[in-house]
Amino acid sequence: MFMIKNITIATVDKVDTIIEKGVIVIENEKILWVGEVDSCQFKEENMDKVIDGYNNLLIPGIINAHTHTVYYLMRGLGMDKPLKTWLSDTIWPYLAEINEEEAYLGAYLGYMENLRSGVTYVIDNYYMAAKSKQNVDSVFKAMVDTGIKGMVARGYHDLNFNVPEDFMETTDEIVTEYKRIFNKWHGTKGGRINACISPVNLLYTTVDSLEKTTKLAKEFDACFHTHVAEAKFEVDKIQARFGKTFIEVLDEFGAVNEKFHSVHSVWLSKKEMSILADREGKVIYNPASNLLLASGIAPIETMLQRGVQVALGTDAPNNNQDMLESMKLAAILPRMENLDPLAVSGKQALRMATIEGAKAVGLEDEIGSIEIGKKADLVLVNMHSLHNTPCADKVANLIYSTNQSDVLNVWIDGKEIIEDGKFLDLSPANIVRDVNEQMKILNARVQAK
Ligand SMILES: [Zn+2]
Repeated sequence: MFMIKNITIATVDKVDTIIEKGVIVIENEKILWVGEVDSCQFKEENMDKVIDGYNNLLIPGIINAHTHTVYYLMRGLGMDKPLKTWLSDTIWPYLAEINEEEAYLGAYLGYMENLRSGVTYVIDNYYMAAKSKQNVDSVFKAMVDTGIKGMVARGYHDLNFNVPEDFMETTDEIVTEYKRIFNKWHGTKGGRINACISPVNLLYTTVDSLEKTTKLAKEFDACFHTHVAEAKFEVDKIQARFGKTFIEVLDEFGAVNEKFHSVHSVWLSKKEMSILADREGKVIYNPASNLLLASGIAPIETMLQRGVQVALGTDAPNNNQDMLESMKLAAILPRMENLDPLAVSGKQALRMATIEGAKAVGLEDEIGSIEIGKKADLVLVNMHSLHNTPCADKVANLIYSTNQSDVLNVWIDGKEIIEDGKFLDLSPANIVRDVNEQMKILNARVQAK
């Protein structure tokens, strides 16, 4: 049992309670007690350890609801290009070549980067060449080995819409592979590791596979994670093929429910928003990626007004997985939709990065807020850095002034992963060295093609 004292706590409970002079007590993997210091009945002498928070800010573990960790092996390559060119000239040639070891290193690096920015749960969207199906096991293994919690959304393509042949799989192969992955990984490590169904995009998905994977998602009670209306041309292509919009088609197949993830959703119609709100489907907003690729300004203010639930991710075309940066963008970019500075508040952005992510993965009773009985996934954020001084409002500083260098301590299930800004068991130096060495080999293979 341990205690963290002398902290302000942004609980992200139902009414966004802020505990100014807070104390939290953790027993095993759970929050035993949280509240104001004056009402704390627990005695320091009965604790195994007492941590002084030095008047810093404690927040729930952050949930990065959309990234592609393995893409980060191509960090910095092919910049300043449109989405399609970035994919075809840079990402796909590398992804087609990546082997099991490289997938492991990319995912491991990605999870450490996420942990460094206070992320304790990640949805990692990964697809690979058809010949390298086993790479997905490396991604799961890296998740287990780094100690982060998460969900691997194994992507697939079975309709060739300008996608390299290397990535094409048959519907039968996809179904067989999902069954294998779910049986091997879903709900493992005490439920910390999960799998997820993920047609990459309706553009690359046959009606046959959509029927089958929707059924599989129900069978395994799994999330269904897919890119929706990211670029404007996609909406036109789907309209030409089906005579309908993305969400209308996906809903007809029964994919849209409370575990459905509509990633991006930059070009949603009002009707699509109504369907999502009615079915409690989740939009996953990736403001940094939308800005970098000039995808557009997602109508987040309209979505929120219409009752659509919105979680937050970094995505890959962003070049970092700093969820603190993404939280700031989630608060300020939606203001451009209607030139409304009240479109999304800082508190709402924090909810998107925590409890709304927890709802997206169906774990809102376990994670996403700091409340008695929940898992102790916690992040202590430094409020004494130059850019956080002075500190009139800690939550305002968290959203508008911090960056990942302010993350002091990270706990997952009560186990400390980062202490005073340093990883306890994982080595940044080792993974940096290993990735750089392996990239020389991968670069040579890709260039020789
Ligand atoms: Zn993506």
